[in-house]
Amino acid sequence: MSTPNSQESVPRTGEHTRTGLSKAALKQDFLDNLFYIQGRFREVASPHDLYMAAAFTTRDRLLKHWVESAQVFKTSHARTVCYLSAEYLLGPHLATNLVNLGIMETAHEASKELGLDLEAILEEEEEPGLGNGGLGRLAACFMESLSTCQIPAIGYGIRYEFGIFDQAIEDGWQVEKTDNWLRNGNPWEIPRPRIRFAVGYGGYTESYRDERGQTRRRWQPALVINGMAYDTPILGYRTANANLLRLWKAEATCSFDFQAFNTGDYYGAVHASIQAETISKVLYPNDEPEAGKELRLKQQYFFVSCSVQDMIRLHLNTVGPLETFAEKFVIQLNDTHPALAVVELMRLLLDEHAMSWEQAWDITHRTFCYTNHTLLPEALETWSVSLFERLLPRHLELIYEINRRFLDEVRMRFLGDEARVWRMSLIAEGSERRVRMANLAVVGSRAVNGVAKLHSKLVKTMLFKDFADLWPDRFHNVTNGVTPRRFMVVANPRLSKLITRTCGHDHWIRDLELLRELEAHVDDAGFQAEWRAVKYAAKRDLVEWMQQTTDIRLDPESLFDVQAKRFHEYKRQHLKVLHVIRCYQQIKQGQTQDLVPRAFIFGGKAAPGYFMAKLMIKLINAVGAVINNDPQVNGWIRVAFLPNFNVKNSQRLYPAADLSEQISLAGKEASGTGNMKFSMNGALTIGTLDGANVEIREAVGAENFFLFGMTAEEALQRQITGYRPWEFYQNDPELKSDIDLINSGLFSHGDTQLFRPLTDNLINHDPFMVLADYRAYLDCQKTVSDTYKDRERWTRMSIFNVARIGRFSSDRAIREYAEHIWKVEPRVIDPVTEVDS
Ligand SMILES: *Cc1c(COP(=O)(O)O)cnc(C)c1O
Repeated sequence: MSTPNSQESVPRTGEHTRTGLSKAALKQDFLDNLFYIQGRFREVASPHDLYMAAAFTTRDRLLKHWVESAQVFKTSHARTVCYLSAEYLLGPHLATNLVNLGIMETAHEASKELGLDLEAILEEEEEPGLGNGGLGRLAACFMESLSTCQIPAIGYGIRYEFGIFDQAIEDGWQVEKTDNWLRNGNPWEIPRPRIRFAVGYGGYTESYRDERGQTRRRWQPALVINGMAYDTPILGYRTANANLLRLWKAEATCSFDFQAFNTGDYYGAVHASIQAETISKVLYPNDEPEAGKELRLKQQYFFVSCSVQDMIRLHLNTVGPLETFAEKFVIQLNDTHPALAVVELMRLLLDEHAMSWEQAWDITHRTFCYTNHTLLPEALETWSVSLFERLLPRHLELIYEINRRFLDEVRMRFLGDEARVWRMSLIAEGSERRVRMANLAVVGSRAVNGVAKLHSKLVKTMLFKDFADLWPDRFHNVTNGVTPRRFMVVANPRLSKLITRTCGHDHWIRDLELLRELEAHVDDAGFQAEWRAVKYAAKRDLVEWMQQTTDIRLDPESLFDVQAKRFHEYKRQHLKVLHVIRCYQQIKQGQTQDLVPRAFIFGGKAAPGYFMAKLMIKLINAVGAVINNDPQVNGWIRVAFLPNFNVKNSQRLYPAADLSEQISLAGKEASGTGNMKFSMNGALTIGTLDGANVEIREAVGAENFFLFGMTAEEALQRQITGYRPWEFYQNDPELKSDIDLINSGLFSHGDTQLFRPLTDNLINHDPFMVLADYRAYLDCQKTVSDTYKDRERWTRMSIFNVARIGRFSSDRAIREYAEHIWKVEPRVIDPVTEVDS
């Protein structure tokens, strides 16, 4: 499907050194890149030089697919998905690109012949941490699956100079270190100095008469900065499709303000450029108590404005008039962070392209779709009207007008129901008037979805009930998924090879439902033994890595009980700590009959301003320090905190877990994706009926899942009828003794006050009902221990988890979006080149 021109401009496959997939071509290109790009030869190259050369060698091969994809999309006018996300938690690129190109094995062999260790080279890569956790990781999985499913797509976001902080643990406390990920260069991105857009802030709006004598509005911003594009190709699994991740960097409009320069204010001129660059400087950690940061709103508008301007440019360059914009593009909002795009598209159509309100709204509304990610009221974004007025005066006018027309519709439909009008308004009235970004996103979109069945139901019946009354057809569910390429093939090569060998093919990697074929082998003792050996080897790898990084020694024979995710009270890491303390007390009292040897492993970052979450980290490390130094219990239990949980480290953790802790209070976790990754790697889940746990349990079978705790409905009912956590504390002597042990100072060198904020909160408020679920959790953990003692039974359950987890591939999620929400079709670029096999 390439134009004649493209035949010449794109290097052909075959033995071309820079695109060929043979071992010889890889070796030659690697040495060329080492010499010509890094300026080194083999004998003096540092590990980082070797990594860069390997990265450029891989990128050379990506670019070929990418340029071809771009040409086909352009000439075929394919409908394109634009994914707008303030976060992309990408993880290292090199290994997934080698897998997706089908040359992982060849690269291993090529490295060996050059006397190099590919594993060590892969270890060199520093991951771009441009996201906080689940939401950003979802965006990254979706980009990969969009390419794998061959759907034309562009991901838009921010090229933060500093991503999520690196976590160190000092004296048991979390310490944040800046993540200077660009320090050594980023071989995966291609700067596009010609793709730049101006973005305004502040100033005023005014009416004027255009050349046809019509009165129109325009915005005169006080400050204008530029956004410049940096492109990263994202290749699909063994497809020729490579989609584009386009991230924007902020810069001054020109590096010198000449007027200031001429009047001698040299430093003043430089200052403006520094101010502009601040906008894409740093990713905000989420879960901060007061999120109303002006810079964050500036960031959101910055990337949204660049992205919408870019789409309009692409449209005018290829398809033509803007009347057909909604046929060419569908924009998916990943949460409300990019919701301003609705208003920005309106502004550009109205003010810059002189469209009528009706036509502009029709196009806008048909273009947008919105994914909700949270029901927690404190996590729903609002911005003060006064900040809006100061920063984005034209957008505030447009929001008022959107709201006026929308509320008229509500009034017509629900005569006299002014309470409803208040609830649905885009503006929250009160001592301080605020713009409700979620309401804006719902009103501006033709489709709204939650990220798991339970969550989507709660979105419809609780969070946006008023909107669902008005527009029932607007609400959908698309359950999240994760990419098996990263979280199985790359993270767990031993398991992947065993699966491929057992099934006799590797088609499961692109069609994960095929894992079902494993069920036929579930009773095969030989296969079970191999399955256990794979898990054991992954545990040994983790043990070794933990010992190197934390000095904690774990026993690979013990049950690896893992909770790894962002720290938040609703995720209830403290519930697991109470179980650790219970086991400790039991062993000290000689009651070990119900136990199995366990390694309690924790990992995750806390938002720097979230005091309670940081105290939970300190508590885990404090409990660990006591337990790990008590020889009386060390044959039974150990506690480990894995520092700096990021994508790279997560890939060491998921394969090594026996037990996956998904213990949030029911109704609070929108979906979770960690739950899927653990299951894919053969861990069994202990979990509540929350988020996607519900569907995972349905899929793998209730008998292969450890369920405990209140349902969302029960939790809500208890909240309504009055929850009194102190009654649980008073009435359950074991619970009381676990909490009292924390308060005794045993874990804090006699300091009886250190953990009081946490224990007092549990006893007196306990907003996430830890105490109400404590007993059910401990009972369930006893069942876990009993089951683990029966190795064969455990192995069968583990195999069933993997065999039935196919639904939770992000490929399935993307196909659902494509069919039900986006209405886009795959666009095949080229026959797949079979390699490696
Ligand atoms: C998958 C993932 C998450 C999300 O974990 P949940 O258990 O769903 O909260 C967070 N951080 C990283 C690094 C991940 O890979």
